[in-house]
Amino acid sequence: MTTAPAAADQSVGEAFGRRAQRALLLAAESAAARDPLLFAAALCRAQGEAAAALACLPLTGSLESDFPAIEPRVRDVFRAAAAHGPAPLVEEARTRAEEDSGLVSTRLLVFWNGDRKAAEDYLSRAALRPYAEVLRFRRTPPDRIHRQGQCPACGGPPGIASRRDGSQLEGAKRRLHCALCGEEWTVNRIQCPACFEEDPSKLPSFQADRHPAVRIEACDTCRRYVKSIDLSLDARPIPEVDDLVSISLDLWAAEEGYTRIEPGLAGL
Ligand SMILES: [Zn+2]
Ligand SMILES: [Zn+2]
Repeated sequence: MTTAPAAADQSVGEAFGRRAQRALLLAAESAAARDPLLFAAALCRAQGEAAAALACLPLTGSLESDFPAIEPRVRDVFRAAAAHGPAPLVEEARTRAEEDSGLVSTRLLVFWNGDRKAAEDYLSRAALRPYAEVLRFRRTPPDRIHRQGQCPACGGPPGIASRRDGSQLEGAKRRLHCALCGEEWTVNRIQCPACFEEDPSKLPSFQADRHPAVRIEACDTCRRYVKSIDLSLDARPIPEVDDLVSISLDLWAAEEGYTRIEPGLAGL
């Protein structure tokens, strides 16, 4: 079964374009995070072009079946990462852009079907984001395993959280944002998204004066954390893009022995 392209698919490319613009705007304002923001802008632009191209194709949601159709777009994203990425990524991205089809497909399928270890493949995630997001826009379920605590649309990991502390809106309080397909879902405020710890004494959160809207929500049971952005102070942020401005907090968390549940947009 394939899903025919729909008019709504056109807007998926625009969603990437808004992220690219936001990253460029923030790069001009933040000297400390300028490089990762410029990389994110270039990556989102490439992903947006890939998504716009995929939006014209019939897709089944089975990566194995869809691979021949999406392969050229996957390679485009690898090339963008090679051209604009941080030094540790450039070499790997260049290699993957030139690998033969069998290897490209195998690596992506290991990521797509794999366990948590295989999920730590940032470049596969970046290359498959346009595909996963087009499937989400079409409501075509991807053929992936959905584990507890992961994205209800695609089974991907939460890359970032957002909150609206001042809001009276039901269910708008704490949301997780999928790093693979861009879906958002509401979760229990007091729960670790990685190991589901619910004891508040084991779930410390940390803030810094320099980034008043940003909070590190950590878990002392599994030593992982998710970063959370308060959208009640300012509605303009796009959490996965604005995340990069406070990269200093991720460095601090790493020094404290916490590991981020999923790297952000720039692979950090
Ligand atoms: Zn998802
Ligand atoms: Zn935990």
